[in-house]
Order: sequence, then structure tokens, then C-alpha cells
Amino acid sequence: MASLSLRHIFKVYAGGVRAVSDFNLEIDDKEFIVFVGPSGCGKSTTLRMIAGLEDISSGELYIDDKLVNDVEPKDRDIAMVFQNYALYPHMTVYDNMAFGLRLRHVPSKVIDEKVQEAASILGIQHLLSRRPKALSGGQRQRVALGRAIVREPKVFLLDEPLSNLDAKLRVQMRTEITKIHHRLATTFIYVTHDQTEAMTMGTRIVVMKDGIVQQVDTPTTLYDNPANLFVACFLGSPQMNIFKAKIVEENGKVYALIGETNKVLIPQARAKRIIDNSIFGSEVLLGIRPEDVRYEQALIEAHPESVIEATVDVIENLGNETILYLNIEGKDDYTIARVNSRYVFSQGDRVKMYLATEHAHLFDPTTELTLMGVPDYNLIPAQCVAVDGGLEVIFGDTHIPLPKSLIERITDKSVINNAVTLGLAPKTFKAEEDFIVPEPVAGEEAAESAEAVAAEVPNKDDYIKIEGVAEFFDDYPRFRAVYATVSGMRNYMIAARPLDANFSAGKPVTYYIDPNTIQLFNEDGERLVADAPVSDNGATGTAVNNQGVYNYRVAAADGRKNKFAYENFVMEPDASGAKQKKELFDDLKTSETDTAINIDRHGFSIDKEVIAKTPKMVVSGNITRLDEYRRDAIITVDVPGFNGEVTAIIRNFSGYNTGDKIKFAINPHAVRVGDYVTMDRAIANAQDEGEARRKEIDAARAKERELENAAKKPKAAPKAEQAAAADEPKAAAKPKAEKPKKPPVKKPVAKKK
Ligand code: ADP
Repeated sequence: MASLSLRHIFKVYAGGVRAVSDFNLEIDDKEFIVFVGPSGCGKSTTLRMIAGLEDISSGELYIDDKLVNDVEPKDRDIAMVFQNYALYPHMTVYDNMAFGLRLRHVPSKVIDEKVQEAASILGIQHLLSRRPKALSGGQRQRVALGRAIVREPKVFLLDEPLSNLDAKLRVQMRTEITKIHHRLATTFIYVTHDQTEAMTMGTRIVVMKDGIVQQVDTPTTLYDNPANLFVACFLGSPQMNIFKAKIVEENGKVYALIGETNKVLIPQARAKRIIDNSIFGSEVLLGIRPEDVRYEQALIEAHPESVIEATVDVIENLGNETILYLNIEGKDDYTIARVNSRYVFSQGDRVKMYLATEHAHLFDPTTELTLMGVPDYNLIPAQCVAVDGGLEVIFGDTHIPLPKSLIERITDKSVINNAVTLGLAPKTFKAEEDFIVPEPVAGEEAAESAEAVAAEVPNKDDYIKIEGVAEFFDDYPRFRAVYATVSGMRNYMIAARPLDANFSAGKPVTYYIDPNTIQLFNEDGERLVADAPVSDNGATGTAVNNQGVYNYRVAAADGRKNKFAYENFVMEPDASGAKQKKELFDDLKTSETDTAINIDRHGFSIDKEVIAKTPKMVVSGNITRLDEYRRDAIITVDVPGFNGEVTAIIRNFSGYNTGDKIKFAINPHAVRVGDYVTMDRAIANAQDEGEARRKEIDAARAKERELENAAKKPKAAPKAEQAAAADEPKAAAKPKAEKPKKPPVKKPVAKKK
């Protein structure tokens, strides 16, 4: 029995092959963990590092809280079972199983007991006197398992143990290994490239690709809430259909447009799970599993807005089900449907299919990350106003005064009195129960420890209250994602709470957030606020105008210097067609010495083409800090000549680490002459406008609330309505009778509870 902790583990083989990158995982005692992924993704390497057969290049491996990086394999108390069994051909089954114990000088009576017990667990008592060559593949694999079982290790490591067996035996051994896991009640780590094995055996699955962990979760969660396109397509057979679709909103309903002709409704409950509002109006990848492409007539009639037309091209009748390969307009490859085998199809049939969009998945086409699920941040459209000497963010009924520490980190002053996107991390949400101070237990010593416990309980006054209505939850292995409706939000607010968190559907729920954990983005949800302290990117410069080419020399207090140059003109044709010089920036015509300049944080580019095009505007320095976030990275770079470190916000950043030397081109438009306007000054200047704006926002919200309440009121008089309807029995009864019963939605077959 053992728990394992893998922390920031890397493996770089001689020759520079990076087989595993930053592998992090906490494995609990008695878990059955499966590493799954395509061949070469680093599964075996990770397993071999746990076994001690391969050195760990960087990172730490703990078994039961003991660092074992340098512990010999034989002293790690683990047993490994390989694909090729590795049995000694000249020994009997008994001797093969007893061999390891004999090496450890275990008394032969004890050995005999253990071998007999393992043999009975595996059902191979009758084979003990045979040699391996007289065994079938399945029997040999059982002996290999038996050899591991007799050692009673803390951890079992299994490396594709079933891949040499035929299909039928594999299925049988699968259940046997699961049974052995239950019986031995110890930690198993199992490597396979077979997604069915992973789905059916693992209590948790680690999906890997190119040495990087893609997602770790239970089979059900991976299947229902894949974190990215790779996981979505890797698990499930046939694999998920991926449509290029445009997401639009019409009359309060959300649709996906596929090609020119297909348009499907995404039901409210599903659409509200979208975590990034910026996708509206743009292309996304829409994922629908084959079992969610439905042919049942009743479903098609019940969901006329989610039906597409298709042409049947290939039909595979598997007896228990039929796999259809369909061509639809707007999708280049086949759309695969898994339908009941009693339906009969012919090639070329035109059919209508219902896309069960209540199970639709959406992915960002660039990052391939899910646009649903549990996000790093709840992204909430809000207004940021300058009031009460600081900044306040408002959405719906929630007002959040920003703490000073956050205001100091804001990188873009245009947020003041403007629309912003608020980022609230689900993991930081607290609820009433987190503020309850536990009852002290009687006794003097206990009183002391109770005091310590009480001191750990946070103070509610430091938190900001958000009220909503609890709708539903998804359980993940380590937390419960609670979805709530909150005023002012189009999407659900998602809180990651403990697995035993209180929950009542449809009931009001109150959350508390620590204002220090808030992130702020601009209106489109891009990054605005860094974790890095922001510098003003200032320097003292002298510009020398040489026929429109400005040569800037900058110097810092520490005496270090730098220079760059840019052309302050473009050549443009005049009325006669002759090219004329046109000046670009009036305000940059300074030739005075000691002129303060500063550079906007967005004014830097690491794009090779830009650097090549403006070679004289290029400066370089070492990266001292790097924060990657959503699509942006914020880097601080030590550039000679500037007053402090230069902070740059770079789009689609990649290829550099902290400490690396980086070159970037300065955009001349971003160079400003004059002193940097501090945030404090900008906020102070904006107070009057801010106060007025807050009044407007509050008034608009009050009106909205009035309308909401008015809309709710008629509900109070349903009896009157019924009475009125009773006068016209047909009209009232008909719609109800016509509504077909909602058929139960079948769960995918490959899923394991
Ligand atoms: P998997 O088990 O997922 O198939 P591996 O862990 O065996 O993947 O391999 C991961 C990567 O490391 C592959 O690119 C593989 O070629 C490389 N690799 C594995 N073993 C070695 C080795 N001894 N030397 C160099 N590269 C290796």
C-alpha cells in the first residue's frame, strides 16, 4: 500500500530526446492509475522512472512521502510486470514465482504459502510444475503477475501486460487484473495505448501526448468533459465527430452553423457552460460523439432545430449496432453515427439525423482547448469604474472594490471607466461553511489546538459576496464543480468546491471570493493584469532627427546605455502621383537631451519578420520573469538603458524560458515622450466620470430587476390562468398531448461507472 507523488518530472534521454515534460501527479493509496496515449508519448519512460529503471532528469519522485530519486529499484518496494512476461524458461512455474523470494532468503515455508496463495488468486495451482513453454500466452501472463504478487509490493507497475494476448484473452485478463487489484487493495499503475483498457480498468486515467500530460481524471469525466481536442478524440470508439462551426446567438438562442445549410440549436443549459464569450460570432470546433448522432424519429421530431441532412455512404452492421459513415454539407470527412442495428440503410440514402447537442463539446480552433468544462477563470463581462478613490468592478448585483495590490498590477489604464472582463478562479470560491469556527473540544490541551484551528478559519469580512442560484454539479476526483446562475452573467458561474459540499438544485447559493485572487482582462477577455510587478518601461532619452530618421539614445541611472532608431515618415503619393514624405508623429520631434520617454507594454514584438523589417528598433536583454497566461505572456526583461526592467506583453509567446536572452522590436507608435502617468494619477483624474457611470449602471440594473420581478409575478397566479384555460379545454390540452415523451439518453457503451 502506498501513495506516490510525481513532481515536475522530466526525462531527457542522451541525445536530447525529451520523452517526458513536467509530469505532475498525486497518486493515492489503492488507486488504479492508467497511463494512456499513442506510442512514443512517454508512458513507459514514466513508469520506468517510477520503477527506478531509468534516471529522473529533473523533478522529484516520492513514495509514501519518501524521496526515492536515488533509491535503488530493488529497495523501492515495487514490482513490475512486462509485456513479454520475462519468465525463466528453464524453471517451473513454481520456481519462477518463488525465485525473487529465495533471493531475499525468505524461509521456504513462507515462500510456499505465498506461492500457493498467489496461484489460487490467479487460478493456476494446476500449472505450478509446468515450464513456461508448456503454457499459453494468458497463462504465462498470469505467472508473471504471480511473480509480482508473491513479493507483496507496495506498488504494482504494469507495462502493456496484455498486448501480446489475443483479443478474447485480453478482455478476460482485463477483468482478472481488475479483480486482483480489488483483492490485493494496493496501488496499481498500468501503461497501455489501448483506450478501451484505460476506460474499463482505471480509477483514474492519465492521458499523455508528446511527453506532456493532457488530462488526469476518472474515465467518466474524461469522456464527458475532455479538456482538449486530443483527449476528446483519443477516448471513445469510433472517435468523436469534429465539425467546423460558427457559434451565433439569435433571439436569445445559441446556434452552431455548419457549412452553408446546416444549423443546429445548442440548448440553453449547454450553451451556458461556454466559458469564453469571445467565441460568439467566430469559428469553433464542435464535437459530437457517434452515439449522439441519432436516427430515432421521435427524437428528430422533438428537436427540429437540431437536425441535419446527410447522405449515407458506408454502412457497417456489427450485429448489435450499426456504424454509419455519413456525408454532410460543410464537413470534409465522414460524420460517424452509431445507431440501432434494426434500422436498414442503403448506400446513397438521404437521411435526417438529430445531433444531440445537449452533449455537444466546443473547442477553440487555435489552442484546441475546451470552451466548456471548468475554466481557470470564470470570465465575466463587467464595468470598471473609478470611484471612492479606487476602482470598482460591477456586474449584475455584484460590486467588487479592487484591492490596491491588484490596481498596482493593472497594465492598461484604458480599463478605467470602461468595460472589462473579470476573472474569478473557481478554486478560490468559499461558501458559508468555510467560515464556521469549529466547536472547541473539552480539555485544556484541546482548547489550545482549537484556538489554532479557529485562527485558520478565514474572516468573512475580507471576502466579497456573490449571490446566485445553484443549478447542478459535476464531480471530479478532487473537487465538485458547482454551476450557478448569477445576475449579470450569460454563462454559469462555476465554483470548485469540496466533494462533500452542500448542494441543493434551484436554491439560492452564496459564494465568497478573496479580492486578492481576482484577475482582470480587457473587454474581449485578453490579459490585462499581470502577476508581475509592472514597470513603466521608462528611460531618459535624446532623439536626434536625421532627415526624419530619429536616433534615440537612452541611458539609465546605473549608467548603462542603449540606442535605437526609427523613421518618422512614410512615402505617400500626392495628387500628381509623385511620392512625398509624410511625417508620422509630431509629438516625437524632440532633440532635447534628458527627455523622459516610456514605451507601452504592448509595443514589443518577438516576431522574426518584424525584427528583420525594423532592425534598428531592436533591443535585447535577459528574461528575468515570465508569466504565461491564456493567449499572452508577460515578460520582464533587463534591457540596458531603461530605468527599471522592461515589462512586455507578447501575444502567442513561445520558445523562451526565464534566463534566456530575448530580442524584440519596439513599435515606434508605442514610444511616448514625457513622464509616465501613474495608475494613481489616472484613477484620480477619472473619479468624477466614474461616480457618474456607477450611478448609471446601478440605475440600469435597478430597472432590469424591476422587469425581472414583474416577469416573475404572473407565476403567482397560475390558478387564474388554469381557470381561463379550462374554458377552452382543447387549446390547453393539445400542446401537452403532442409533446413526445423525452426518451432516455443512452450513456456511451465504452463508459465505466
Ligand atoms: P511510450 O511508452 O508512450 O510508447 P516511451 O516512453 O517508450 O513511449 O518513449 C518516449 C520517447 O522517448 C519516444 O520518443 C522514444 O523514442 C524515446 N525513447 C525511449 N527510450 C529511449 C532511449 N533509451 N533513448 C532515447 N530515446 C528513447
